[in-house]
Formats: sequence, C-alpha cells, structure tokens
Amino acid sequence: MSPDDTSAPSLAARLARVRAQVAAACAAAGRDPAGVTLIAVSKLQPPAAVAEVAQCGQVDFGENYAQELRDKSRLLPPLRWHFIGGLQRNKVRLVVGTAALIHTVDDLDLVDAIAARARRQAEDAPGFAQDCLIEVNLAGEAQKSGCEPARLPALLDAFAAGGGAVRCLGLMCIPPAPADAPPEASRGHFQTLRALRDQAAASPRPHVSLHHLSMGMSHDFAIAIAEGATLVRVGTAIFGARPQQ
Ligand SMILES: *Cc1c(COP(=O)(O)O)cnc(C)c1O
Repeated sequence: MSPDDTSAPSLAARLARVRAQVAAACAAAGRDPAGVTLIAVSKLQPPAAVAEVAQCGQVDFGENYAQELRDKSRLLPPLRWHFIGGLQRNKVRLVVGTAALIHTVDDLDLVDAIAARARRQAEDAPGFAQDCLIEVNLAGEAQKSGCEPARLPALLDAFAAGGGAVRCLGLMCIPPAPADAPPEASRGHFQTLRALRDQAAASPRPHVSLHHLSMGMSHDFAIAIAEGATLVRVGTAIFGARPQQ
C-alpha cells in the first residue's frame, strides 16, 4: 500500500476493525473482553504512526529492538510499552523500567541481569520491580528463542530467588508459522502453553503469578483468545506491512 493510495484504510479504521475482532473472539469464547489486552506491535513503524494509533486510545504497544524502544519512548507521550524481541544482556539497561512488561525472558542469565538492573533502579525508585514473562520454545529445533518446557521450573525458581526486583507474570510463545500454515495450526501450541502454565501454577512461588498468556498475532489472535490468551500481539493487521529494516 502506498501512502497516496486513498483506498487504503486508515490506521484508525484498521485498529477499530481489530478491536471489533478481539471483542467478537471474546464473545464467542464467553470471555470478559476486559481480560484480553490488545498490544499494537509497532516495531519498525515510524513514531508518527504510533502517535496516530495512540490518539485513537490505544495504550499498549510492542517493540522488538531495545534501541528503538528507548528512542520511541523518549519521543512519544507516555504509553505502556511491551518488549517482545530477543533481549541481549548488554541491552537490558535500555529495556528495564522502559518496558512495563518484558515478554521474552528465556534463560537464567537474563533473569539475573534484569534483576541486577532492576535493583539499581529501585535505589532511585523504591519498590520498583520489573515485570516479565517467560518465553517458552514449543517448537523444538525449529525455533531458536524461548526456553525448553523442561527448563521452566528452573527459570521460575530464579524469579522466586530474585528478592522481588523481578516478577514473573506468565508465559509467552511464538508458534512456528510456515507461510502457508492456516491459523488453526497454532491452536495446539496455544493449548500446550496454557497447560504448561496450569502445571507450573500448581507450585506457587514468591514473585511469580502466572496469570498472563501472551499468545496470538495478526493471523491467529482469535484462536489464541479462544485458548485463553490475556495479551495478544498484533502488528500488521493494525499498521499494515512493516517497512523493511
Ligand atoms: C512482529 C511480532 C508480532 C506481530 O506480528 P504480526 O504478524 O505483524 O501481527 C507479534 N509478536 C512478536 C514476538 C513479534 O516479533
């Protein structure tokens, strides 16, 4: 879609359409719409596009790159940012305290690095804690990010041992999506993530509450909502195709 293509729907219209689809999926699943948060994934989108969507009342935005998150958060009015990209330890300082929720914690070193940074921030802001989700790798070899399901208890123990500087609020997944796969192909992965959550929640730990399931993207968020998603991450359905990096 070129910018001068007047037949292209506006960002406001796209957002309204996605909101209606989220509401319809909640209704179909007998779920309270207040229990599902739509995250507008704005990676690689210009700040002006983010501002336009924010003006429609959208508060939650998702970013994948630490530097881009930091830059946009400085440029734009206060929004609730979600960090959903791979996080390297040397970028932790850009993300802690800027992102309300980090969705992609997948190893013990990362928990420690986030906790250390969060403790430093708590020196200036008493009570500060960084909220996180654990990204789970449900696809085995086919996927590089996320922790193996068998490693989940060890990661949860690391959050429990963090003294409250980091909190784990749930789990996140990115199902493998071959270009030609139908949205239904994600359902089994979403069910697996929910089952892992239910299993882990049976062993309560301090600083761990597994309320959230971050799952579902533009092509499969309705199925994710049917399977219990509390956070859906939707990019192209709201912003259109992403500019190339
Ligand atoms: C880019 C991205 C999304 C959004 O994907 P769309 O298909 O554009 O909706 C969601 N989650 C993660 C982790 C992403 O990297």
